[in-house]
Amino acid sequence: MPAPDLVEILNLKKHYPIHRFGIKKKVIRVVDGVSLSIKKGETLGLVGESGCGKSTTGRMIAQLISSTEGEIFFKGENISNFVGKKSKQLSKKIQYVFQDPYTSLNPRHKIGALLKEPLTIHNIGNKQDRRQSVLEMLEQIGLDPSFENKYIHQLSGGQRQRIAIARALMLRPELLILDEPVSALDVSVQSQILNLLKDLQQQFSLTYLFISHDLNVVHYMSDRVTVMYLGKIVEASDVDHIYKEPLHPYTQTLVSSIPTVLKEEKRKRIFLEGEIPNPSSTIKGCSFQSRCPFAYDRCKVEQPKLINFDNEQMVRCHLYS
Ligand code: SF4
Repeated sequence: MPAPDLVEILNLKKHYPIHRFGIKKKVIRVVDGVSLSIKKGETLGLVGESGCGKSTTGRMIAQLISSTEGEIFFKGENISNFVGKKSKQLSKKIQYVFQDPYTSLNPRHKIGALLKEPLTIHNIGNKQDRRQSVLEMLEQIGLDPSFENKYIHQLSGGQRQRIAIARALMLRPELLILDEPVSALDVSVQSQILNLLKDLQQQFSLTYLFISHDLNVVHYMSDRVTVMYLGKIVEASDVDHIYKEPLHPYTQTLVSSIPTVLKEEKRKRIFLEGEIPNPSSTIKGCSFQSRCPFAYDRCKVEQPKLINFDNEQMVRCHLYS
């Protein structure tokens, strides 16, 4: 029997009800029925505009927030309802790296203490072992031992993100969920961090869920790509197919914004017009219809299903069914 995927999520939903005077008035469907899998050792890119539900999906996998509906499997085990000790044990295997290290790292603690903390929480090693692990990790992320005694505010943006990655790696996780890990950095520093992530992936046999709005970066990092729009997956395939032959009109627009693709594939930039619908409104038909240059009558009345276009690509669009 083949080994299960490292992660599999089935029909995952995160809905936020809006109450007025104690009565449920509307529901915001931030994630609305997402199913995907991540194979061991690969990098799955999860892309889409801000608010499409990609970070919420990552946070549900990492158990940082609960799901409204759906199931999450990690190495074949259903982790959807893990709480307490089980959830703590799982946090050793799944770690989350945020875009802004300031949100996850206590500025009052020195770097050494920040890196030691996960080991202390999980009661791993003695004082000496923990310090040794910190020094080894600093070396692995390209910082010298003196950083142990610095504070986060004394570091550059790139150094801070190195520390956030290092802290996530202290427990030797199997899955790292990287949420816009280089979006706040200068382009030159971005490439250093991306290359570091690639090296660490090899070194620690890591699997990545790489969340980003930047397709250029996702192209560089990912083996497969999943595109989300308004809480749903609209296209999924391996990285080459999605960049060379994007099927969904939304993916075509995203890909057309990458300068290298425009040059290499001799494509024209596509600009989207129309408004993004309010996620709390009930949309009849395709949720992309208000911005889609190819929308036709059927799109206004029938919601497209995510279909297997060929063995390589999944797409949610009536143009292919
Ligand atoms: Fe555009 Fe219709 Fe396809 Fe939606 S289903 S992406 S509106 S063509």
